[in-house]
Amino acid sequence: MTRVEDTLGRPLRNLRISVTDRCNLRCQYCMPEEEYAWLPRAEILHFGEIAALVDVFTGLGVDKVRLTGGEPLLRRELPRLVRMLAAKPALRDLAVTTNGLLLAEQASALREAGLHRVTVSLDTLRPDRFAALTRRASHAQVLEGIAAVPRAGFAGTKLDTVVIRGLNDDELADLVEFAKAVPAELRFIEYMDVGGATRWSPDQVVSRREMLELLERRYGRIEPIVDDGPAPADRYRLPDGTVFGIISSTTQPFCARCDRSRLTADGTWYLCLYATAGVDLRGPFRAGAGPEALTALITGRWRGRTDRGAEERLALRDRAPLLQVAQLRADPRLEMHTRGG
Ligand code: SF4
Repeated sequence: MTRVEDTLGRPLRNLRISVTDRCNLRCQYCMPEEEYAWLPRAEILHFGEIAALVDVFTGLGVDKVRLTGGEPLLRRELPRLVRMLAAKPALRDLAVTTNGLLLAEQASALREAGLHRVTVSLDTLRPDRFAALTRRASHAQVLEGIAAVPRAGFAGTKLDTVVIRGLNDDELADLVEFAKAVPAELRFIEYMDVGGATRWSPDQVVSRREMLELLERRYGRIEPIVDDGPAPADRYRLPDGTVFGIISSTTQPFCARCDRSRLTADGTWYLCLYATAGVDLRGPFRAGAGPEALTALITGRWRGRTDRGAEERLALRDRAPLLQVAQLRADPRLEMHTRGG
């Protein structure tokens, strides 16, 4: 294994792999539009291609893979891919981020296939708000999915909540209490102006500082957990020992320690969530490029990486959605649901 670092000394370590751009929800902060341009099916990577690319990445220091989407559990036979990846000794951590709709029926098979951890998106405990946010009346299915996770034998479960002012910012403590009972660690995520978030505006963002103020009103003093690792969430401990996290890339970005990159379902590699251009790995791979050539391509690009997208966005005076609908239609890879958040 050769460890590669970018221009800021950040290692290539954490790879998020989108296995489909399709989703069975339409969350307002990610897919607010009626129509979407989808990736051509012929260009979607086969499991064997994903596994081969992961071998190249692990040879360069990647030891964490997170499967994402769209909604990854929509990808047929996902446990088969999990089994292929779980068999790789270089992978220290193999996780999935899901909206939970299909989790009740798939949790055991994913666990049996070797998946290590599950993160479920849960933005509200109220079915009416869920329906308004996602345009689907399937809140109960998500709760069933979450309940299936510990039953399947998973530990280290996380629940991710995107906090939006006026939508769910009055549910923070309730969500913390809900997560305790799962058990899971709750992570609040600041609303981000990335990809398909065409309805984003600064006044809808509830900052980390505000979230902590809201929670301190309920719980009293909250203790920060000092950790300068690469994980995106800053973590905190409540007086009763409960731990939760806040991912604050909109108001307090953490680009300086970012070791993450993303592979879309059609094999385009992005070095930053805000990047508008990626590296085509599918083309060279299907044209016969071997591990050496792909290793050289990835090494060269990572070593030249300067991305600090969230920091650059924060420096903008008049911040507005990153991309307009026309740009997203022209290149669906710019969408958050195509690069897996
Ligand atoms: S904005 Fe880009 S560089 Fe910054 S943390 Fe996110 S992915 Fe990493």
